[in-house]
Amino acid sequence: MWLIGHDGWVAKPFASSADTADQTRTLELLADGVYALTAQGDPNVGAVEGEDFLVCIEALATPVAAAGWLARLREHTGKPVRYLVLSHYHAVRTLGAAAFQAPVIVAHEQTRALIAERGEQDWHSELARMPRLFQEPASVPGLTWPTVTFTDQLTIQLGGGRGELVLRYAGRGHTAGDLVAWLPRQRVLFAGDLVESQAALYTGDAFHADWAGPTLDAVAGLGAETLVGGRGAVARGPAAVAAAIDQTRRFLAVMRQQVGAVHRRGGSLAEAFAASHAALAPQYGRWPIFEHCLPFNVSRLWDELSGIDWPRIWTVQRDREVWDQLQR
Ligand SMILES: [Zn+2]
Repeated sequence: MWLIGHDGWVAKPFASSADTADQTRTLELLADGVYALTAQGDPNVGAVEGEDFLVCIEALATPVAAAGWLARLREHTGKPVRYLVLSHYHAVRTLGAAAFQAPVIVAHEQTRALIAERGEQDWHSELARMPRLFQEPASVPGLTWPTVTFTDQLTIQLGGGRGELVLRYAGRGHTAGDLVAWLPRQRVLFAGDLVESQAALYTGDAFHADWAGPTLDAVAGLGAETLVGGRGAVARGPAAVAAAIDQTRRFLAVMRQQVGAVHRRGGSLAEAFAASHAALAPQYGRWPIFEHCLPFNVSRLWDELSGIDWPRIWTVQRDREVWDQLQR
């Protein structure tokens, strides 16, 4: 759906609001007792079996959406969910938590702080940006609060000869509080939105310099052989894992080059957006959520280059203002 304005300009539909086509969901077995559900560019989720319990990774946007994933998982295992791991605070990954009935909800301490600071605004912002992901939005009982948080690392012993699941903080990146979930024995990594595999990056709450440098170095340093990114297909094999990480790094590098050049010469935000769009579109333009994300990405990077360290809070109103300024 494209809207034609009175003066002849063509407006792009706001964010992903016109994206109403359901995506095919694929449940994949990555190793014994290790599952991923991917969805053609919609947010990915995962699960890891312990001896007599389950660890679920990410919660989707609503309990109704999460219940659909749990039904798929229940075709493979009936173990109760003991832990729900949230990679970061974004609504489309946290607000479905109630469906898991997990006694323990784990996140990084910064994720808890971000939910307290901006969870409410983020909920409304993401609902307006991506309405399709919020199946039965009234089923969300409220914000999701982690019950256990950590700063550097938290290890869950899986028992029964299954090894361990290591939750690690790799540094500031997609948000201030992203964790990755790492299975050293199986060499499987759930990277959250720190790595995308053939999907565009969302950097509206990001720390671009840290993410492109030490944070992705730390992620790459784990030596994963299978990687589940925040969106997109599972990367299988060291070459595919490296390609996913490189793609993420390149996306950030091109944005930093383009926005940085306009910022240094005293240009405008709109010029920075146009330059980034032109430079990224040939490789990334057809990937999921590219058009949706870019205005918010460039706006945040512009702030970062202007010395605003802590990302400003996105609200429904601010979303629209930035969109109308850049994407028309
Ligand atoms: Zn996110």
